[in-house]
Amino acid sequence: MTLPETDTKPALDTLRRVFGYDAFRGNQQDIIEHVVAGGDALVLMPTGGGKSLCYQIPALVRPGVGVVVSPLIALMQDQVDALKALGVRAGFLNSTQDFGQRHEVEEAFLAGELDLLYLAPERLKVESTLRLLDRGRISLFAIDEAHCVAQWGHDFRPDYLELSRLHERWPTVPRIALTATATHATRKEIAHRLNLDEARHFVASFDRPNIQYRIVAKNRPEQQLLELLRTEHKGDAGIVYCLSRASTERTAQFLTENGIEAIPYHAGLDSRTRATNQSRFLREEGLVVVATIAFGMGIDKPDVRFVAHLDLPKSVEGYYQETGRAGRDGLPSTAWLAYGLQDVVQQRKMIATSEGDDAHRRRLGVHLDAMLALCETVVCRRAQLLNYFGEEATACGNCDTCLTPPESWDGTIAAQKVLSTVYRLDRERRQKFGVGHVVDILLGRQTAKIQQFQHDTLTVFGVGTDIAEPVWRGVIRQLLAQGLLSVEGDHGTLILTEASADVLSRKREVRLREEPKRAAKPTKTRTTTPQQELSPETKPIFEKLRTWRATTAKDQGVPAYVIFHDATLRQIATELPTTLAELGTINGVGENKLAKYGQQILDTLSS
Ligand code: ADP
Ligand code: ZN
Repeated sequence: MTLPETDTKPALDTLRRVFGYDAFRGNQQDIIEHVVAGGDALVLMPTGGGKSLCYQIPALVRPGVGVVVSPLIALMQDQVDALKALGVRAGFLNSTQDFGQRHEVEEAFLAGELDLLYLAPERLKVESTLRLLDRGRISLFAIDEAHCVAQWGHDFRPDYLELSRLHERWPTVPRIALTATATHATRKEIAHRLNLDEARHFVASFDRPNIQYRIVAKNRPEQQLLELLRTEHKGDAGIVYCLSRASTERTAQFLTENGIEAIPYHAGLDSRTRATNQSRFLREEGLVVVATIAFGMGIDKPDVRFVAHLDLPKSVEGYYQETGRAGRDGLPSTAWLAYGLQDVVQQRKMIATSEGDDAHRRRLGVHLDAMLALCETVVCRRAQLLNYFGEEATACGNCDTCLTPPESWDGTIAAQKVLSTVYRLDRERRQKFGVGHVVDILLGRQTAKIQQFQHDTLTVFGVGTDIAEPVWRGVIRQLLAQGLLSVEGDHGTLILTEASADVLSRKREVRLREEPKRAAKPTKTRTTTPQQELSPETKPIFEKLRTWRATTAKDQGVPAYVIFHDATLRQIATELPTTLAELGTINGVGENKLAKYGQQILDTLSS
């Protein structure tokens, strides 16, 4: 359905008046027009792409209340506060409220005094909520974080399965489902489960050009992280991901002891502490949170300058979502991952011993293989990532392999040495020999274990003295990544695979990535931090505005970015508006904020 031209105006008008932005981004306009006209939509857009406006503006333009289903209970208050700061009438209903608070929101809904109502998915199972919605006027349903409906996805929420019912109960209300999860398989599953096969699908490019992707060999991960933060991200806010709860605690403590303020976040902390830590991360500037994957979904803090992974993520999808939390404001940011042999061994072990059927294990294996291929690639990381999501791309010039192209070497003979060692050990099935023992044999070391099993009599004993230990570990890691070796049982015993035979019989050549001699520092890292980009004259003005913003945010109990984003303050500091009218032309200054803060900004500038 195409709209008459005059109907696109209210949307653009709302964008300018309420949000203070001049123009739509990417395919926002198409999506918004489609939903305003009553169409269903499935929107796939990367984190930071601007999904919220795609339902917020239609909710403001269409008569009635936009109902937003979101699993992010802990963030609803902030989301609603941010909307209120824009003059949008918003409320939420979830389990954190007492009866009185809920009642107030319900009354506002029924009186038509809301533009947007956020709901936790479990609310929709409650008959009284459904009846409440029946009594009001609904402009649209927005299903945020729609990938939560995908059963084998990493964020599956059973309550999301119920959402297909919305359509049955309110067939004429348009639905818009949104997610930053991109693969074709997940997209199909979402469309199917939410009954959105007939809906129009909008797929944006998943490229995030401002994020620099880097994957380094892991040796002393905490030191490597510290070095990164000290040299490139002093005073920046960021997220560090670890696999285990214990290592988040340890790493947070390590960073704090080394002068970088960091707090842990994981599912084992009580909900009070979790809420406090999340709120501190959103409100304080330059804080680092060290978290398991339990943290981050829906965090819309725009100025996260880095996302670091100290352990190998389980899938490219999860990795891309997590790294996508950096740089929503479009400014330069880093995605950094340290990865090593133990990661591969551990994850293969976890898959081998995981619950579920063979099909499930195979699927986990496929996910891991894609992640390993990304780690070991000698071509552009971004191109590889985008290809994974079905997008074509050329070398980006802003990832480690583009900036410092890795060499590759013919590792066939080295691979044969490893594989024949594993083959020989494999004949002593009752014993468990891990990676360390294989390396000891190759290097001809007389360890107690070697003597105990008389492994110094093997023909492969000492055949690898031409190569240093770390390189051997790199060879084994890459053989595991390429599927030429595998891991068995919970001891991490190396075993051959079907493909190993081709290497041993010289039918197959093995190309390996050169291990960097030292922790590779890209030759060209980002040359400016956001603050440095400002000229010497504008910098103090920017800092003055930031101080004003910090005080204002504190008074109102909201995160600083709810008042104004850095990008907006920077533009103000550069353009130095002298009247309210001039100030109103700055990106991010809408009607409500101009009325509320305009004079204070002008006073701050002239003080
Ligand atoms: P997503 O939900 O897709 O991760 P958001 O909706 O949080 O992304 O938007 C990311 C950032 O981009 C926000 O700070 C938002 O205010 C900003 N933004 C979105 N659309 C526009 C636009 N058309 N012009 C300027 N800024 C925009
Ligand atoms: Zn690249």
